Amino acid sequence: MRSTACSAPLENLPEMPDLFDLAPKVELHLHLEGAIPLPTLWDLIEGYGGDPSVPTEAALVDRLQYSDFPQFIDTWWWMTGFVRSYEDFEKVAESVATDLARQNILYAEASFSPTDFERHGLSAQGIALSIRNGLDRVRGTQVVLNCDLVRDTGPDRATTTLRAVLEVAAKTDVRGITIGGSEQTYPPELFSSVYREAAEGGLRLTAHAGEAAGPDSVRGALDELGVERIGHGVRIVEDTDLMARVVADQIPLEVCPTSNIRTGVVSGWDAHPVGVLLDSGANVTISSDDPTFFHTSVAEDLRRVEGLYGAQADTLTQRAIRASWMTKKEQASIATTVDEWWLDHR
Ligand SMILES: [Zn+2]
Repeated sequence: MRSTACSAPLENLPEMPDLFDLAPKVELHLHLEGAIPLPTLWDLIEGYGGDPSVPTEAALVDRLQYSDFPQFIDTWWWMTGFVRSYEDFEKVAESVATDLARQNILYAEASFSPTDFERHGLSAQGIALSIRNGLDRVRGTQVVLNCDLVRDTGPDRATTTLRAVLEVAAKTDVRGITIGGSEQTYPPELFSSVYREAAEGGLRLTAHAGEAAGPDSVRGALDELGVERIGHGVRIVEDTDLMARVVADQIPLEVCPTSNIRTGVVSGWDAHPVGVLLDSGANVTISSDDPTFFHTSVAEDLRRVEGLYGAQADTLTQRAIRASWMTKKEQASIATTVDEWWLDHR
């Protein structure tokens, strides 16, 4: 199911806001740095003297295209060169939160990847504090943080980053961890002691698995890392036994269909396993992953999934609420808001 080219068009976004745009939503799998609104990213690039490969904002849109997953990781790394200071992180966080509120996303779990920015002399604690400062300037959306320990830097640096983030976790509302990056090169087993330490520190656990690598990666995340959710997980469809287990245990899957198409993990919507997962009774939730980098939004992914597979956006949103790191009280409050809105609008 891997392909070397992305065939999905960038168009098809509605001109007028529809139910999916307007509905109260929740997003569990969102990278803060992958959600920087384009004008903010453009300002950051220009502020650091520009980049000849993107002479215009339109060229920046074109730059965000990938032939495969490694090329996406390369583009991500290029972006990290333009977020260099704590002030930049405050600006990024404020603009992302503003954009989430505009989309009526009531709650989001945003991951941030501090080790990708250490070369600018920034500490993980300082980045977390700056992000929280920026987020707190915006009303209308609750954003909690997951620290992405970035598998490409290996378990030792992941441990160092984890310990740094734990120092400020309560103050910055970091509630969980994930590992993103090159899943095909850095299997989950390498990070078992890091995950144990995170759990002992009171953090919730998820990991990217079953995206750029197959079923073994998902097994590793479940058995060696003890994750509560799986980031992506779509490649469990390649293994009948694993799929049966994930369905039986109702392990929440943070499915990001457009992301998988843009990175070439699947060749297009017609080849995406989300329909099979839904039909099998898997606990599918829907997120946008890196909306700026993939030219999507959670509304767009919900619209596509409901339109193509019949899974209703309100059901998917309620699943995301239950699978979130919210407290039970927070979950009950947002669940009621979502219920009431859809009762009035269906
Ligand atoms: Zn991700």
